[in-house]
Amino acid sequence: MDRYADIITEISHSAVDRSFEYRIPEELSGDVHIGSKVNVPFGKGNKIISGYVIDIKNTPDYDPGKIKAIESVDKGSFNPEINRLKIAYFIKQNYGSTMINAIKIVLPVKKITGRITKKKIVSLGTESQIKEAYEKAISKRQVGKARLLKELTECETIDYSLVTGKLSVSPNTIKSVEKSGLIRIEEVNSKETELKFRSNDALWPELSDEQKNVVKTINEDVEKGINSKHLILGITGSGKTEVYINIIKKCLDEGKQAILLVPEIALSYQNVARFYRRFGDKVAVMHSKLTQGERCEAFLRAKSGEISVMIGPRSALYTPFDNLGVIIIDEEHESSYKSENMPKYHAREVAAYMASLYNCPLVMGSATPSVDTYMKALDGDVKLHKLTVRLTGENLPNCEIIDLRKELEEGNKSIFSRRLKKLLGECLERGEQAMLFINRRGYAGFVSCRECGHVFKCPHCDVSLSRHGNNKLVCHYCGHEEDMPKICPECKSDKVYAFRAGTEKIEEAVKKEFPGAITLRMDADTAKKNEDYEGILSRFANGDADVLVGTQMIVKGHDFKGVTLVGVLAADMSLYSGDYRCAERTFDLITQAAGRAGRGDKPGNVVIQTYQPEHYAIIHASNQDYEGFYNEESIYRKIAKYPPFCHMLEVQLLGPKEEDIQELALKLMEQAEKVTGDKNIIRIGPGKASIGKINDMYRMVIYYKSEDYSLLVKIKDIMEKYKLLYGPTRDMVWFDFNPISSF
Ligand code: ADP
Ligand code: ZN
Ligand code: ZN
Repeated sequence: MDRYADIITEISHSAVDRSFEYRIPEELSGDVHIGSKVNVPFGKGNKIISGYVIDIKNTPDYDPGKIKAIESVDKGSFNPEINRLKIAYFIKQNYGSTMINAIKIVLPVKKITGRITKKKIVSLGTESQIKEAYEKAISKRQVGKARLLKELTECETIDYSLVTGKLSVSPNTIKSVEKSGLIRIEEVNSKETELKFRSNDALWPELSDEQKNVVKTINEDVEKGINSKHLILGITGSGKTEVYINIIKKCLDEGKQAILLVPEIALSYQNVARFYRRFGDKVAVMHSKLTQGERCEAFLRAKSGEISVMIGPRSALYTPFDNLGVIIIDEEHESSYKSENMPKYHAREVAAYMASLYNCPLVMGSATPSVDTYMKALDGDVKLHKLTVRLTGENLPNCEIIDLRKELEEGNKSIFSRRLKKLLGECLERGEQAMLFINRRGYAGFVSCRECGHVFKCPHCDVSLSRHGNNKLVCHYCGHEEDMPKICPECKSDKVYAFRAGTEKIEEAVKKEFPGAITLRMDADTAKKNEDYEGILSRFANGDADVLVGTQMIVKGHDFKGVTLVGVLAADMSLYSGDYRCAERTFDLITQAAGRAGRGDKPGNVVIQTYQPEHYAIIHASNQDYEGFYNEESIYRKIAKYPPFCHMLEVQLLGPKEEDIQELALKLMEQAEKVTGDKNIIRIGPGKASIGKINDMYRMVIYYKSEDYSLLVKIKDIMEKYKLLYGPTRDMVWFDFNPISSF
């Protein structure tokens, strides 16, 4: 008897965002499953296109005589369980997407073309021979060589690209080590693990009582398959990762698998090595530099059971494990967990849904949790666990807030306060390292009075206005516009400026004040141009430079043992970046930055320079006091009706003609609001987007706020429907729920 399949085709247009029925030919019968990628004839011309099977049934809904047959099955693709399609549907429903685009996110698979070959470095020397060579390299100050040899004292083999990438050792250096006979370079197939350690008796430290309690609670849920949610709150060094490792271990013991999400930027060599050391070739690490083929290979290894632990950024979430024991999200507050492309899903929310499908616990960890998650923890929806002790025995650094208004008053116009300059001089004199941090986000510039600190805010939205090129101040939420003021309304001073300062300017200042100091700079530009950010970081970690100047890229998840001074040059910059989460981000950045000082055995100093020394985000960050921050921030969010106390939907309209999208915006608004009424909904806009035009496409935004998320989903659904009814145009409508940053 013939069987039939419902298929979502590869045409990404909401007009055909429905399934089509096809017959499964006898000879393909064994190969077609739910989730299979297939090729089918489509439309009048019977053009062959691909699609995914979302259902299989014995009786067709249409006339069997008119149903076309599946042409072939794509063998390189997965046959995922029905759960994956549910996840795709969840994404489609909650974030606005076509089904096919949602499927492509959870099944990011391309056919494998041929074998992928990689190279690895094989250690030939004994441990002591390598150690000897390492010490020689150190004494000759051959830092790259030393870096490689140090790892080889512990590792039998290391992936070649891991060495040139995360370890930042040049191919020439590798060649010279090869010539000395200590290593051999071999080709391997992609299945081999990146890192192999000489001995497998990994170090399992005895857990602290706090750690034991967390592990015990969560591991019980892993064992029983209970869908619970946990937040581990603990500063860096409080042993969160060690807790994750023990939960993952439990999963493996139970024959289950684990997914650990980590922000890409935190995937340093040391962090990655830590997992290979414990779990050997059961682990795979995903990162954005993998090719589509390599990604697919990693997923296939997961599917076949070769690996049981997947570590990586957002996309690692979709690893096709069939018996998932836990999903762990480290640094859960990181904005990189939200997709910046359509559909703009949040990996934390999708992970929570997945954990409920697979009946496993969801574990989140952070020193500075998102306000969203912490609120849930206080509500009891998420179990809160606190790790209160730094296990490394290091003390928290000494933190000082410097009022830049006073500096100016007393005639200091330099980027450095007198205090920072003094400490920096002393630090360099002692031969120790310093980090100077500035937040790039503020670059476009909030506008403030340098005399009294007054910041210019939108009268409607309670966010700071941004300066635009045409001497106007603009609100990025509602489009409110006013002329750039010449005089401060508070104190009548004329010292009203937009804030501008960059990493380059700071580097120059360091060179001018301390000509002997060697500096490294890292921001989006240098990371792209020169070498990997990992390279810069590992060079700094190895003492190649005295001062590291950079943006937020330098503050995340790296241990620099030599750093005893951290300067946050303008803490305000992220405070007025123009969205409601800026206090949260500022608190997070300063807390993280401050945590970089004094990670070794020497005490650390942190200097926070600001025009707003009394701001709660800055004060609580300087005390590493998350709860204090949360208490004040949550009041602001509640009063101003921002997430998590209220949900937000951002509707973006794009089109080649400004009048057209304006008209479309009004029409869609009318339709949506006819249905929702004005109950429990606040609309802001429509207004011009922060960047009103990109590539000749005009952009407008409408914001809706409601405590009822489903009401916002309804608005999205209605708008999607009416956009289609109004007929095909080049105008586009995008949706972003609880936007993290829209500009
Ligand atoms: P976090 O992830 O919170 O930053 P880690 O788990 O990385 O903390 O722990 C910080 C340091 O303390 C690491 O070097 C780790 O090996 C060590 N550590 C963690 N737990 C213990 C423990 N129970 N006993 C001894 N050392 C530990
Ligand atoms: Zn506004
Ligand atoms: Zn003023």
